[in-house]
Amino acid sequence: MASLDGMVALVTGAARKRGIGRAIALRLARDGADVAVTAIARDPSQLPEHERAEGWQGAQSVAEEIRAMGRRAIALDLDVTSDDQVREAIARTQQELGPLTGLVNNAGIASEAAAASIAEMDDALWFSTIDINLNGVYRMCKAGVQAMLAHGRTSAIVNISSLAGRFGFANYGGYCASKFGVIGLTQQLAAEVATRDIRVNCICPGSIDTDMLDGTMARKAKVAGMEFAEFKATYNQSIIPMNRRGLPSEQAAVCSFLLGPDASYVTGQTINVDGGYRMD
Ligand code: NAD
Repeated sequence: MASLDGMVALVTGAARKRGIGRAIALRLARDGADVAVTAIARDPSQLPEHERAEGWQGAQSVAEEIRAMGRRAIALDLDVTSDDQVREAIARTQQELGPLTGLVNNAGIASEAAAASIAEMDDALWFSTIDINLNGVYRMCKAGVQAMLAHGRTSAIVNISSLAGRFGFANYGGYCASKFGVIGLTQQLAAEVATRDIRVNCICPGSIDTDMLDGTMARKAKVAGMEFAEFKATYNQSIIPMNRRGLPSEQAAVCSFLLGPDASYVTGQTINVDGGYRMD
């Protein structure tokens, strides 16, 4: 029997080919879960070249990968800033797959436009970052935990924060504040539902090789006056004890553990998955 057999899980922000969300959705399915793969609808013209080149269909493609593994999967449009879409996605998941017992709040942005100091911050960009990265997790947790309390089955939630939720980085707009908030929300919710057989934990990825990190590195390379490839080859290596960036699949493995029965006495925790970058 696989560790997540019988689980119905919903993962947000899971449509990008190189993203952590897709890796999590695939890992949960491999470990036995049926999965609602959700993602904000994207304008095809905004897709990265590598996705366009292979005709990548976002959440639909991830759901097909999961079905090919013999698990059930649905693909849903879900913008976590919309209360209506949040409620609709959870309702559809339960109608089509069964009671929601696993929730992974992975959706987030590190907007390049919002990468400014607080003194120079555009208020609208600050508020929109907080609305996606923190309020989005709140909306999902609220609706998700209501569903879990209603059906009463053993359930678990994992929120994705960041090392930028552990300590401040300069010129990160609303990203640090939002990710610190995700850790606080995780602890509050864990305390509230600890006696109701619902566990809530958090992961802080370090530098993980995704399109999001490439965007951040492209900006930093420009500031440093370096070529992107050269910058990417050297950036972070000296400060990560394991001397490499992480893989999305390495985040997914920890997420699956936290959702599953081997973590039955673990709640309210925040785990750095960062190659030893931060050891507290
Ligand atoms: P990614 O850009 O591939 O994934 C983020 C996903 O969130 C995308 O699919 C995006 O479309 C989605 N999203 C954005 N706004 C949304 C909205 N309003 N509603 C629903 N979905 C929305 O990046 P990733 O690197 O895979 O990041 C996944 C998570 O991990 C994010 O929360 C990110 O902050 C966090 N993280 C990543 C790193 C890293 O180094 N890559 C480090 C620390 C934390």
